[in-house]
Amino acid sequence: MAGGGSGPAARRATEPGPELADLVDRARRGEQRAVGRLLSMVENAGPRLREVAAALAPHTGYAHVVGVTGAPGVGKSTSVSALVGALRAAGRRVGVLAVDPSSPFSGGALLGDRVRMGEHSTDAGVFIRSMATRGHLGGLAWATPQALRVLDAAGCDVVLVETVGVGQSEIDVVSLADSTVVLLAPGMGDGIQAAKAGILEVADVFVVNKADRPGAARTVRDLTYMMSLGQNASGWTRPVVRTVASRGEGVDDLVAALDAHRRWLDAGGERHRRRLARAEAEIEAITLEQVRGRIAALRGSATLPDLAKRVVAGELDPYRAADELMDAVGPS
Ligand code: GDP
Repeated sequence: MAGGGSGPAARRATEPGPELADLVDRARRGEQRAVGRLLSMVENAGPRLREVAAALAPHTGYAHVVGVTGAPGVGKSTSVSALVGALRAAGRRVGVLAVDPSSPFSGGALLGDRVRMGEHSTDAGVFIRSMATRGHLGGLAWATPQALRVLDAAGCDVVLVETVGVGQSEIDVVSLADSTVVLLAPGMGDGIQAAKAGILEVADVFVVNKADRPGAARTVRDLTYMMSLGQNASGWTRPVVRTVASRGEGVDDLVAALDAHRRWLDAGGERHRRRLARAEAEIEAITLEQVRGRIAALRGSATLPDLAKRVVAGELDPYRAADELMDAVGPS
């Protein structure tokens, strides 16, 4: 960390140096390499993470963050690629974060990204990154928001966050997004029944992809019926968009639905409320991580073993012991 040491002085040492300021400037102009370097810096949680976060902060808050989720095989990658195409055709700068919680391998401009995104990999207006969150403390909660900030500062009008692997990530992605797209497809069990519990409730926009397959009309009908049963307290009527992502059909309708949702979010202050909730969760995650780090730093010392001895001897209950441990770790 710049300034070195620990404690309050180190915590304030977040003024970006000239080299970092230059990197952020270049990223804001959309220079791919600068964006890539910043992404690596936040992803690796290197010693300059704080500096980077501080340098990015004034330039964020503009991008429309769209989460794309759904069961494996439903067509998420295909849809994201088609969405990128439609957004680019409208002249918008686009970021894509493909989050894989099942993999420990992250990548910059990796071959995997290029293959996955085909024609978009050489487009200067598209920023693509695969992120692995396995092994990251706090998983998505920690790493992905920082990467989102980089893409936001890089002037992306829209950032698509897609879950690649399976796991808790679906719900986590939702907590990061301004708008959440839930994809379903006919013929995957009963489309609606097959969707994970909880995922339908968080949708802002439904997509019934593979509308070229038999059963699509039924899936649309079931969804529409299901929504007619539950009152939507927010006042947003969740659209059901039919797409054939592999042929690009219906993708413009999806873009229109997302734009409408964004306008709705802005008009009622909901976007701001969601962002506040997200910032709270993020601050909490960072704080927890810092506390864990400080406890880990105590490991060589006698503090924790001494507390354990007193608990085992019946001199102290574990809750009081935890209070004492908290006193020992903070404030720094
Ligand atoms: P993901 O696992 O959710 O990311 O799904 P993919 O995007 O990898 O798609 C899974 C498979 O479904 C691939 O073979 C796609 O080519 C195919 N697919 C995607 N969209 C459509 C569609 O609209 N219609 C049909 N018939 N196949 C599709």
